[in-house]
Amino acid sequence: MALPTQSADFPAWYQEVVKQAELAEPSLARGTMVIRPYGFAIWEKVQRAIDDRIKATGHQNLYFPLFIPYRLLEKEAEHVEGFAPEVAVVTHAGGEELEEPLVVRPTSETVIWATYARWIQSYRDLPLLYNQWANVVRWELRPRLFLRTTEFLWQEGHTAHETEDEAVAEARLILDRVYREAMVDVLGLPVLVGRKSAAERFAGAVETFTLEGLMRDRKALQAGTSHYLGQNFARAYGVTFLGRDGKEHHAYATSWGASTRLVGGVIMTHGDDRGLRLPPRLAPIQVVVVPIYRSDDERGRVLGAAAAIRERLDGAGIRVHVDDREEQRPGFKFNEWELKGVPVRLELGPRDLDADQATVARRDGGGKEAWPLAGLPERLVTLLEEVQRSLFGDAERFRDDHTFRPGSYTEMAELLDDPGGFMLAPWCGGPECEARVKADTRATIRFLPLDPEPVEGSCIVCGSPATETAAWAQAY
Ligand SMILES: [Zn+2]
Repeated sequence: MALPTQSADFPAWYQEVVKQAELAEPSLARGTMVIRPYGFAIWEKVQRAIDDRIKATGHQNLYFPLFIPYRLLEKEAEHVEGFAPEVAVVTHAGGEELEEPLVVRPTSETVIWATYARWIQSYRDLPLLYNQWANVVRWELRPRLFLRTTEFLWQEGHTAHETEDEAVAEARLILDRVYREAMVDVLGLPVLVGRKSAAERFAGAVETFTLEGLMRDRKALQAGTSHYLGQNFARAYGVTFLGRDGKEHHAYATSWGASTRLVGGVIMTHGDDRGLRLPPRLAPIQVVVVPIYRSDDERGRVLGAAAAIRERLDGAGIRVHVDDREEQRPGFKFNEWELKGVPVRLELGPRDLDADQATVARRDGGGKEAWPLAGLPERLVTLLEEVQRSLFGDAERFRDDHTFRPGSYTEMAELLDDPGGFMLAPWCGGPECEARVKADTRATIRFLPLDPEPVEGSCIVCGSPATETAAWAQAY
């Protein structure tokens, strides 16, 4: 039952937290997972944070089919090359071999752009600002719950625009106003944003923007991406429109996605040796009340008081749960809710009630205090915001403490090996240097500056003049 410590075996710690906190478990088909109710409740909060912002920035949700004719995938050369190794193809159905095989969507650019060809005729039809929440399938040889699964849940936005400027602005808007805001403000993830190098770009994209977090094992996690796709998909699927100049033009595209991997990111950013620590704005349960009693008399009195407190907290907009299970002792419940990362625990016993107080325990390591019942909801609202800030602060400090500017290639390789983290170093822009770092250290360029500025100095790998500063790290 005891968790492995993070420092002893981080992957085992992660696996046990996911299992013991009842977030998810592997299922029967290779690489697939069952998301259990508590894990799904967290995912629903992630969805809410992202979906609210998708809509607030003027987008609408719709839904496209799971199956895509294989020939559609083949139309965009880079895209098919990028995805072919991991697509699942349906060849038999209805007891017969299909005349035309169907791809189980790995992402939906193909079917969406084939459809946009019918929806877009004139500049008046633009922009199209659509998003879908869906499952996708990418065959996974080394699955890990939430981080890499054969089937996963996500949202994918697909927009069409009249001009390049508009499409680039859209990809940046999603990066800043949707993903960064949701991840920073709700999930408490201090993500860094930037551009991907050509080698790390989405298959078929002109530019990929990314959000990267640093996990507690000092590996980076790509938390979401937003792509400017240029006219590649419009050309491949014949999406043209009559412009203001009376001529035919190809539309400009973006696509952007964030997935259930974010749940893994939250676990690995905030978790500690006792289990999960959930930022209050994300937590399905923000305050858990654990009643403590011995006799039947005490039981009636304490449960009555707990119900009254629940009502008051509920009225203050706090997500509260009273753990009134008879078969478990309080000590067991304390451990379980700590493991599940509930931000605040209220202990309520006869002695607390005699003194008109409750014992308040913070999950983020802030200890235990007795608080008067009068004014409790208001104080808890403030406390939850404080826990939210403190978890973000911890994660940000951890990231900064593990961000280095190595002076030489040898030093960079050593730091990547131990302790790991982000290495900010000048790069010449050469794919050979990028490939060498990967071969030597398994680190990849996680991001390049959003708006590149000229840099002084020479490439950390080859010594040629540098063009920009790259952030390298080993990553999930
Ligand atoms: Zn170089």
